[in-house]
Amino acid sequence: MDLIVRRANLPDGNRGVDIGISQGRIVAVQQGLGMEAAQEIDAAGCLASPPFVDAHFHMDSTLTYGMPRVNESGTLLEGIALWSELKPTLVQDAIIERALAYCDWAVAQGLLAIRSHVDTSDPRLLAVEALLEVKRRVAPYLDLQLVAFPQDGLLRHQGAFDNIKRAIAMGVDVVGGIPHFERTMADGAESVRQLCEFAAEKGLRVDMHCDESDDPLSRHVETLAAQTHRLGMAGRVNGSHLTSMHSMDNYYVSKLIPLMRESGMTVVANPLINITLQGRSDTYPKRRGMTRVPELLAAGIDVAFGHDCVMDPWYGLGSADMLDVAHMGLHVAQMTGRAAMQQCFDAVTAIPARILGLDGYGLAPGCKADLVVLDAASPIDALRLRPARLAVVRNGRVVSRMPARRASLDLSGRPDTVAFH
Ligand SMILES: [Zn+2]
Repeated sequence: MDLIVRRANLPDGNRGVDIGISQGRIVAVQQGLGMEAAQEIDAAGCLASPPFVDAHFHMDSTLTYGMPRVNESGTLLEGIALWSELKPTLVQDAIIERALAYCDWAVAQGLLAIRSHVDTSDPRLLAVEALLEVKRRVAPYLDLQLVAFPQDGLLRHQGAFDNIKRAIAMGVDVVGGIPHFERTMADGAESVRQLCEFAAEKGLRVDMHCDESDDPLSRHVETLAAQTHRLGMAGRVNGSHLTSMHSMDNYYVSKLIPLMRESGMTVVANPLINITLQGRSDTYPKRRGMTRVPELLAAGIDVAFGHDCVMDPWYGLGSADMLDVAHMGLHVAQMTGRAAMQQCFDAVTAIPARILGLDGYGLAPGCKADLVVLDAASPIDALRLRPARLAVVRNGRVVSRMPARRASLDLSGRPDTVAFH
């Protein structure tokens, strides 16, 4: 045995379990594992979880906050305009350097799989080349999945489809889109059709920025669900943001959610970004602008929470901590029941792992030996404390350690009592 994590609590509620690891795989999960290993970690009643997974990120723009200036209005459209100003000045080495710095943060936070969109609007495809290089370099530590993302639109921007095809040929994994940014609703629907057909033909997954707007009449979610159904792409098409659903007529949504369920499409909400960017043209009341997360989950649709942005033209905060993301999602969606809070933890672990199609994810025997030990007793405590990641294990090897830092905040009395002391 190479490594044993002893006396760990698991996200499913199992307590005091030993996790045995050999040759990069989990080989035993049981209490009192009577073996020895070359290395042991005593979790002592702390939570051991499969790693965090971010199903929606932009690694080509991360850590560019303030370049060339700050987004003063804080709106999505000023962010897109600012990104257009920044793009021509981007240098490949600098993109790589920033992305690698972000991946270091991610690994330290136990975030070991990221789906990042990469803007393909620039025909030089500098960012694509840069992130493919990053993907190669971080592979021992982190699974980076790339989405060809036509930020300036598919039909609206000349050469956009050609750029996407070139990016896919270079090794980008997933087909992206942005139908609400096309000139008309009809063009948006046409872009969804063309991109889904292309992905189906190539056997690729789809992940579109879809209806990231406050427009109650936007209908691209419906189109994405219909194309997913028509092309038989259940489980392989994801709609990101879907914030229009927040503002839609309730009767219409009562038809839309079952259509989405029937299609087998999945959803990623980005709570930190949705709560700051949406509702900007409202006075009061001001809409929250996140999609209908509990209702979608109740319908049996996989919904993950994504980080989306960290210190870029759209968002000046963030630290690769998926517990921050889940914490915000929990509040915005008012998911405060115990089962709902557990779902919020799943929305940054098991659910996005399914959306990305990760192989061997989990803590069962046979799974890849990737995990994070958190200085908290349970998923709900982890959401409350957003605690230190005591150990991060990748491929059976400890790749990051962090000291405990918040004893005075811990009222949980590990391992399984709730008491003030
Ligand atoms: Zn995004």
